[in-house]
Amino acid sequence: MRKKIVAGNWKMNTTVTEGVELAKSIVAKVNEIPVGVSLVVAPPFTHLTSVAEVLKGSPVALSAQNCADQPKGAYTGEVSAEMLKDAGCSYTILGHSERREYYGETSEKLVKKMALAFENGLKVIFCVGEKLAERQEGQHFDVVSAQISEVLFGLTPAQMAKVVIAYEPVWAIGTGVTATSEQAQEIHAFIRKTLAAHFGEDVAAKTTILYGGSCKPSNAQELFACPDIDGGLIGGASLKADDFIAIAKS
Ligand code: PEP
Repeated sequence: MRKKIVAGNWKMNTTVTEGVELAKSIVAKVNEIPVGVSLVVAPPFTHLTSVAEVLKGSPVALSAQNCADQPKGAYTGEVSAEMLKDAGCSYTILGHSERREYYGETSEKLVKKMALAFENGLKVIFCVGEKLAERQEGQHFDVVSAQISEVLFGLTPAQMAKVVIAYEPVWAIGTGVTATSEQAQEIHAFIRKTLAAHFGEDVAAKTTILYGGSCKPSNAQELFACPDIDGGLIGGASLKADDFIAIAKS
């Protein structure tokens, strides 16, 4: 009933040439992916138009990793949602923990970015997740609930249909430590319950919730078998076409 997605966040990796090669290798294997699973790749901004060319005619969707919180104008170094749409994106990632941590991405900014993404016809992969100390202190439910309510609760159900949530525990991102399937399922079910309490069961049941954090071919199957995990947001392992495809086949 809800979409299954495997999305690759390339972060600040690959040159344009390498990114185009990676996209070509993914497209070449896309017919190995089970029906009902959608693939998304999120290269750096400089790669978007070249990768869009490679993806043309394939079912692989293009995403940005971020967008500006202003529509246009004197914001040096920023890239607007309108530009992303024009470059061929259908998604943007918003609220990744690296942006929250290193670039001051607050919920207030994320509300603005999300509105601009929707205005420009982009869907959003919205990331949430707690830090290690927060989990150790048992605050992970409160942290994730606040991240969701501050940014998503102002949306309409129609806008929620354009949101994919990615639960990414910060302690699992790029560390090689993966959440156990029990830990991940527990918080995914909590996220769905939080959505149900605000938007109703229908919206909650239809929202795709991805897991992210050291997901790889060897652990994807167990994670994706959980009832509330609808796929993954993949960092490191999305830089190798074979691994990315193996994860998507899981
Ligand atoms: C990410 O940063 O979105 C991510 C999941 O990274 P990794 O898979 O490398 O942990």
